[in-house]
Amino acid sequence: MCLPKSAGGLHITNLKTWNRAAITKVCWDLEHKQDRLWVRWIHSYYIEGQSSATIPIPQQASWMVRKVIEARGNLNQAQAFAAGNNNMRHIYINMLGVYPKMTWKHLICSNDARPKAIFTLRVQLHGHLNTAERLISWGMMVDSICTLCQTHHETKEHLFVDCVFGKSLWARLMQWLKWVTGPAHSWPQRPHWILQQTEGKSARAQVLKMIYTEWTHAVWTERNQHVFEQEEKAVESIAKEIACVCNVRASVKCRSILQNYLF
Ligand SMILES: [Zn+2]
Repeated sequence: MCLPKSAGGLHITNLKTWNRAAITKVCWDLEHKQDRLWVRWIHSYYIEGQSSATIPIPQQASWMVRKVIEARGNLNQAQAFAAGNNNMRHIYINMLGVYPKMTWKHLICSNDARPKAIFTLRVQLHGHLNTAERLISWGMMVDSICTLCQTHHETKEHLFVDCVFGKSLWARLMQWLKWVTGPAHSWPQRPHWILQQTEGKSARAQVLKMIYTEWTHAVWTERNQHVFEQEEKAVESIAKEIACVCNVRASVKCRSILQNYLF
């Protein structure tokens, strides 16, 4: 959850690491900002002309001063990356480390879809949605049949690739936008096609990204409605809701494209 968005996380601040970064910043100030009164006070009482990088930790000092001096172990790590830029955010990012970027990061970033739809898409891309297949793998006794089509086992590949419900909803949305995916983009290749088509900053890529996100959320929500509420909606009505949401949330550039098409 605390990883950068490009690495598949939510970019929530890791308070433990942020605290380490804050103490490291104070430690750096202790070595480099001797014009500050508090730094001169610590130097004259505890460091006494030596280097704070090498002196033994003064046991008579307060807990806070000891923790600041002990943070010198992190200083090299922070300084090596943050050369010339010792602000807190920079030190924090360096302390988080380097993570491989997800191939689907562009689907999550700069997406006009609703935050809850982006959240569902993120969980789906990680393969962490609790489909029947996943629950059964944990030993839970649940019905393995897809509640949307009642014909196949509910796996993530089935739900978001093969299920007739998802296919017909997607087809209705593409019919609205008059976008034909073409025979080269048959259904099993569609996730790959989506990744390709949503790269870049063109209005078409932005619109497709938003619609794919809302579609994913709609399929998962409808599946949950079937499982937990025994209720179902018509594909036409779900597609209409997605069209409304997209028209409302789209940026000015994207909205001008959407408004060319009548639902
Ligand atoms: Zn199905």
